[in-house]
Amino acid sequence: MTTAVCFHCGHLKFGSFKICEHCQARPCTDDELIVSLAMSDHYFDQKSMELMGDYIREHGHPPKLDPNSEKTFRRNFEEVKASGVLDQLFQDRDDS
Ligand SMILES: [Zn+2]
Repeated sequence: MTTAVCFHCGHLKFGSFKICEHCQARPCTDDELIVSLAMSDHYFDQKSMELMGDYIREHGHPPKLDPNSEKTFRRNFEEVKASGVLDQLFQDRDDS
C-alpha cells in the first residue's frame, strides 16, 4: 500500500487518492490529484514526506512542484488516469 501525504492537512495516509481519515479531504481536481500522486512513497522517502506534511501544516497548501517535476508527475498522472484506476475511485464516490 502506498503511503502518501494528504494535500490538505499534511497527515500521512495510505493511498494517494484515498480520503484522508484525519481531515476527510479527497483530491478531486487534476492539480490536487497530481500533487497527491507526487507526494507519495513512489517518489519520496518517509522523511521527505514528513517534511512536506510540516510544510502543508505551516502554509496551508502543498509545496509547489518545480516545472520539470510537475511535467513528469503530470505525465505519470495521465498514465494513471488512462489505466482506469481513477474511474474506479470516482465510481465509489458516486455511490455515496
Ligand atoms: Zn488530511
